[in-house]
Amino acid sequence: MIPETMKAGVMKKPGRIVVEEVRVPKIGDDDVLIKVKYCGICGTDVHIFNGVYSKDKLPLIPGHEFVGTIASMGKNVKGWDEGDVVTADINLSCGSCIYCLQNKPLLCSQMSQIGIHQDGAFAEYVAAPASSLFRLNPDTPMKKLALIEPVSCCVRTFRLSGISFAKSVVIVGGGSMGLLLVQMAKLVGAAPVIMVARRQETLDLASGMGADSTVLIGPDDIAQVKKLTGGMGADYVIEAVGKQETYEKSCRMLGPGGRLAAFGIMEEGQNTPFEFFRTVLWEQSMTGSCAGAGTDFFEAAKLVEYNRFDLSRYSENIFPLERIAEGFDKFMHDKATLKVIIDMD
Ligand SMILES: [Zn+2]
Ligand SMILES: [Zn+2]
Repeated sequence: MIPETMKAGVMKKPGRIVVEEVRVPKIGDDDVLIKVKYCGICGTDVHIFNGVYSKDKLPLIPGHEFVGTIASMGKNVKGWDEGDVVTADINLSCGSCIYCLQNKPLLCSQMSQIGIHQDGAFAEYVAAPASSLFRLNPDTPMKKLALIEPVSCCVRTFRLSGISFAKSVVIVGGGSMGLLLVQMAKLVGAAPVIMVARRQETLDLASGMGADSTVLIGPDDIAQVKKLTGGMGADYVIEAVGKQETYEKSCRMLGPGGRLAAFGIMEEGQNTPFEFFRTVLWEQSMTGSCAGAGTDFFEAAKLVEYNRFDLSRYSENIFPLERIAEGFDKFMHDKATLKVIIDMD
């Protein structure tokens, strides 16, 4: 039996998340109710916490990196069973505009994201349309499956930028996503894979995750990258910080024919100096993306289920729902913490 109420982490206003008893979401005929097991805290949740995102949506239950089991289904739902282990594409879009038809739901004007624009999964239950579900292998540990959404973001960035084997790839920024991007670069056979970050500890972690070389951010970082890429600069640079300074450096690390994959989110309205001289003469280009959608989830699930990523460092910090505020605090302030996962049991 589905209870009437449940515990949920509710963002009441910027800077304040509390655990409360709220109503279990009602589902429509085409939806399922998912009993959430784990949900990860990510940078987007921090943006909501800091009032940068979704301020007009508060109070809101955030949480979009989740895994759970189907608890109940609407009457039109076919092909699923209660107890199936699932995650969902969090990007709910119209499904029929030109962008949706091209697997670009993030560009849809009707797009709404679970846990960002509408109630999400820092709760015992979350609702999702059956059409957004992905069936997961019940033999894979659930704490790994909770990382499918962040992996899907890497999948999309690689898909859009076209990074492939034997190309040099520089990842600027060694946060939790930067280190996943290093692993993704190794996975597609990029060479060399170079991590550029601000802390030596991060560079050591990146080496452990497969980076061929590491460069500390500093006055000679661009020169070092050039040296490591045959003197000309990299084929691809992924900016995974979202700051003016690192975007500028990233552009200058690109070589002839190079492509910038813009991944880090800069504050709206901020600019960065960009010298188009080389862009034109060297036929450089740029792609932008930061979130997985549609088939990216399917592929991310496969990569996680078949252990193509070392995710051990990502499941070191599991907090019960009651301590979600502490989890946010740790994720935001402890630089050594790659990920905090909330356990709903
Ligand atoms: Zn996320
Ligand atoms: Zn659409």
